[in-house]
Amino acid sequence: MSASHTVLYRKLRPKNFSDVLGQEHIVKTLINQLKSNRLAHAYLFCGTRGCGKTSAAKLLSRAVNCENPREGEPCNACPVCLEILRDASLNVSEINAADYTGVDSVRGIIEESAYPPSSGNFRVYIIDEAHMLSASAFNALLKTLEEPPGYVIFILATTDPQKIPATIHSRCQRFDFKRISGAVMFDAVRGYAAAEGIKIEDEALRFIISASDGAMRDCLSILEQCASFYFGEEISLEKTLELLGASDISVFFALAEAVLKADMGECMSLIDGQACLGRDISGFARQALSHFRNLLAAKVQQNGNISVSASGETIALLREQAARLPMSLIIRGIEAFSELLGNLRYAASERVMLEAACVALCRPEAAGPARAGGAPQAGEEQAEQIGELKAQLEELRKAVRALSEERGKPAEKAAGPPEKKKAADKRKLRPPGSAELKKIAEGWAGFTGSFSDGSKELPIKELLGKSRAAPDGGRLLIIVEDGVETLVRARASAYSAVILPLMAEKFGVSPETEIEYVGASEYKTRFDEPAKPRERTAEEIARNAEGLLGIKVELKD
Ligand SMILES: [Zn+2]
Repeated sequence: MSASHTVLYRKLRPKNFSDVLGQEHIVKTLINQLKSNRLAHAYLFCGTRGCGKTSAAKLLSRAVNCENPREGEPCNACPVCLEILRDASLNVSEINAADYTGVDSVRGIIEESAYPPSSGNFRVYIIDEAHMLSASAFNALLKTLEEPPGYVIFILATTDPQKIPATIHSRCQRFDFKRISGAVMFDAVRGYAAAEGIKIEDEALRFIISASDGAMRDCLSILEQCASFYFGEEISLEKTLELLGASDISVFFALAEAVLKADMGECMSLIDGQACLGRDISGFARQALSHFRNLLAAKVQQNGNISVSASGETIALLREQAARLPMSLIIRGIEAFSELLGNLRYAASERVMLEAACVALCRPEAAGPARAGGAPQAGEEQAEQIGELKAQLEELRKAVRALSEERGKPAEKAAGPPEKKKAADKRKLRPPGSAELKKIAEGWAGFTGSFSDGSKELPIKELLGKSRAAPDGGRLLIIVEDGVETLVRARASAYSAVILPLMAEKFGVSPETEIEYVGASEYKTRFDEPAKPRERTAEEIARNAEGLLGIKVELKD
């Protein structure tokens, strides 16, 4: 968020503990400590960004120094309070460790803390983003934390407490700030908006809150941005979406509906419509993710409270849609859009990636390796390795046979001790139909070259432009050089509908197939410069066989 839009946030920083939002557990403890004069000398405030850590630290710095505190609360009217409120007090220092990571800034604090405060009771040091301090800075700080002067209070604020060294951690009193809930934020921000004379629709406010994900600073920044852009007008949901480049929630209901019906065309039209409106693609993916997440909440929290920040009307719609969507589809949606969000930053075309993810979500069974349903499983990787090994083994068998034929000896002679021979024989049994598969593999180039540019076959032609086929167990493995565009891939994910009948027509069989995408260089090494088994020496083949089959191979002249 730009600095010009933090005015409202600074203005609305809580002046009293009773104004702190959603952190009742912390406020109560601090008030008790203030009233009973049992303050700690070092605090560690932990929590996500924008949840009020720095605001609470500033409040505490006034409360400990105020000349007329009431029930632990600062008066905000005495000279000391006013000085701190103006950021003009010499006794309250706020440093951002992200800007001053070095040991020098900490040394400055330590030297200064040797002198008692000039006014008020305490010197308060607020260190924001404390986890960013360097190791030497932490070491310097540690000495002071071990034996702090009675008039010094350190408040370390961090979003990442795990990066605070244990030695520092153990000397601080830790408070964990909670993310501010949507409902609490809604009431508070609606109050702020009214007090500031900003007119905003409830739906628009709800959208801003969900976009800011529990961070009050972000929420107020967006509100302020809307208020200055639409100065004097009522801020509607439409205007908010327009300004933020976000999409209306109805689009995501429609998207989930299209996915449920496996209507790929509808998915593409929805994306097209949003792209025409100039909506931001990664924002769209984030909103889609949030919609599927809300559907999940609606599905599992059927009665009572639901952890979704939305109007009653929207929640009813969510419940209705969630009831019709299978749980597996909701989970797949969440996985697909989270994965997409992770990949978008590397994407050449964000829109194509989004389209491919949506289409794959409609047709998970046909999406192949490019499908959006999460990272490849360990099982898939193993299957791939086994496939490779099988291919190597097949190549090896051919080579051994060829070599034996050349030498005029039966292949079995080279297969070592008789007790292992049986096992080797067993492996040689081929699954039925392998002759046909072999025929398809041999005739593959002629087959792919025969496609017309007709609309039905065009994606297949594009996809299979550079491909080979090989028998793989009882299936046909189609190996494609992976230069094809994601969209072609996604379209071809429905290839079986088109390619199988064509294959049946040409070869008279319709085998189970799988497409494997391999990188251009790998494809080249596999097919353009094939290792020629016949040229291998008998020694090489024997050693390879030993490694692969775990058998001893003896060579006889
Ligand atoms: Zn005061």
